[in-house]
Amino acid sequence: MDNFNLTGKVAVITGGAGIICSEMARSLAVHGVKTAILDLNKDAAENVAAKLEKKYKIPSIGLSANVLDKASLEGAKEIIDKKLGSVNILINGAGGNSPAATTNVEQMDGSEDPSDTFFGLKIEGFDKVFDLNVKGTIIPTMVFASDMVKNKSGVIINISSMNSYRPLTKIAAYSSAKAAVNNLTQWLAVHFSKTNIRVNAIAPGFLLTNQNRFLLIDEKTGESTPRGRKIINNTPMERYGTPEELTGTLVYLASDLSKFVTGVVIPVDGGFSAYSGV
Ligand code: NAD
Repeated sequence: MDNFNLTGKVAVITGGAGIICSEMARSLAVHGVKTAILDLNKDAAENVAAKLEKKYKIPSIGLSANVLDKASLEGAKEIIDKKLGSVNILINGAGGNSPAATTNVEQMDGSEDPSDTFFGLKIEGFDKVFDLNVKGTIIPTMVFASDMVKNKSGVIINISSMNSYRPLTKIAAYSSAKAAVNNLTQWLAVHFSKTNIRVNAIAPGFLLTNQNRFLLIDEKTGESTPRGRKIINNTPMERYGTPEELTGTLVYLASDLSKFVTGVVIPVDGGFSAYSGV
């Protein structure tokens, strides 16, 4: 563990008030990292930061910022530079899906109402999902990586998804946007390779979160829905993951433990991506 020293580093976590990224911020604070929690939801960001600072006695600030608005990120950067110092680690965590880019049926046979199929998807939904997941990774990287280039050191960790390797039914835009995140991770890794900035991604497996609970668990019975059963049946470890289970990989990628690792997307998925179903 000689290369494992994160103490005193500064990390920016976009979407840092969310379920996964607030846990990621916590795992960094545990290791002495000063954290800037950036989120559209200012109160929630401040709340996460205040809890981290209180519990781990490490400076943490919560700031309102929109990953699609360069000026708001530059404003946040000024405050971070002043209060915490130059940024060493960027976690591009803000992301998600939209119902407007989700079909109602998994596979069509032509007898359905077209609005339940691919033909009912809204282009605005695609725009929203591509913007948030793809541009929402590009813009913060532009803002926070420029100092990393000057400092000749930095780590960028993008948050991908299982749907990036093989698409999941229904979520057409979200799957293709996360595939773009993987591709961009590789592109950036090569582009930055001579500047000592490493760019990698984590692809979380299936977690039960507030966003997807209604799709996976029947509210009335508490039993798995058919989609929930399919997920568990296709996860060799036969369970959902937890946000905490992503943090070992995060800390590995954030630290010099992974000094020679760049351009990879690591699945943390209970075996889902390795399993053919047979
Ligand atoms: P979440 O909804 O709990 O958190 C997302 C956070 O991002 C929210 O706090 C939201 O306010 C913030 N946000 C949204 N738009 C923003 C914007 N434009 N600018 C700044 N902040 C914004 O989501 P989560 O489930 O914790 O997901 C976090 C990341 O992990 C996302 O990239 C998601 O795609 C990915 N992911 C989630 C799962 C899962 O099962 N939950 C699985 C795989 C990947």
